Amino acid sequence: MTERQPFIAGNWKMHKTLAEARSLARDIRDGAAPGRRAEVALAPPYTALAAVAAELAGSNIRLAAQDTFWEKQGAYTGAISPAMLADVGCHYVIVGHSERRQHFGDTDAIVNKKLTAVVAAGLTPILCVGETKAEREADQTLQVVRRQLERGLGALQPATGTDLVVAYEPVWAIGTGLTATPDQAQAVHHFIRSLLREFLGPPAEAIRIQYGGSVTPDNAATLLAQPDIDGALVGGASLKPEMFLPIIAAAG
Ligand code: PEP
Repeated sequence: MTERQPFIAGNWKMHKTLAEARSLARDIRDGAAPGRRAEVALAPPYTALAAVAAELAGSNIRLAAQDTFWEKQGAYTGAISPAMLADVGCHYVIVGHSERRQHFGDTDAIVNKKLTAVVAAGLTPILCVGETKAEREADQTLQVVRRQLERGLGALQPATGTDLVVAYEPVWAIGTGLTATPDQAQAVHHFIRSLLREFLGPPAEAIRIQYGGSVTPDNAATLLAQPDIDGALVGGASLKPEMFLPIIAAAG
């Protein structure tokens, strides 16, 4: 069986002033055991990327961005390119988060443009997929995940398993306190792994699939114990070191 290093990422969303972001980054940097098994990344808002990069310098915690635009540069007011994110020290870029799909109109085609641009800039995308409550209740979870993954990836052919991360985030579990049961999550993760095999071939075995949706210190260990759950994308709980650090520890 392929060994996959667990990967815990914190998505800070639209939270934290500069001073707060620095302090949170320091608390996580100093609290996360350097010899831990899990890879860790923090995704602060754009305004705090440089400040958090400075706090993380010399540590083994990586920087991530929450989104990007697909053009390299130009007259795109308000947009940030993957090259700019690389320049500020990002390693990962989240694309297709359900909040982007819901509030900012990101379609699968847009998600694919962003993912392609992220890869072209030498960064690693964290591609989010997941069904809404209505879609789950209508028994459409697998169709939705298949469509989002297939269209989101498009022609991408990662050379290795570390060139791509997928996050399964059931929309009904994000920020709601509702969590998919370990069995529910594992079933979809297993399905995603089979799709990755179908679309990408051998690199699929090494691609990390994170679970996201109200992950807390109480549920992290059982979720992470599932064979196809390789980490967590954490929203609310990543804003509090006393919540986030035990989640990192739960990954080993
Ligand atoms: C997320 O935003 O990716 C997320 C999973 O949020 P939360 O942990 O708050 O549900």
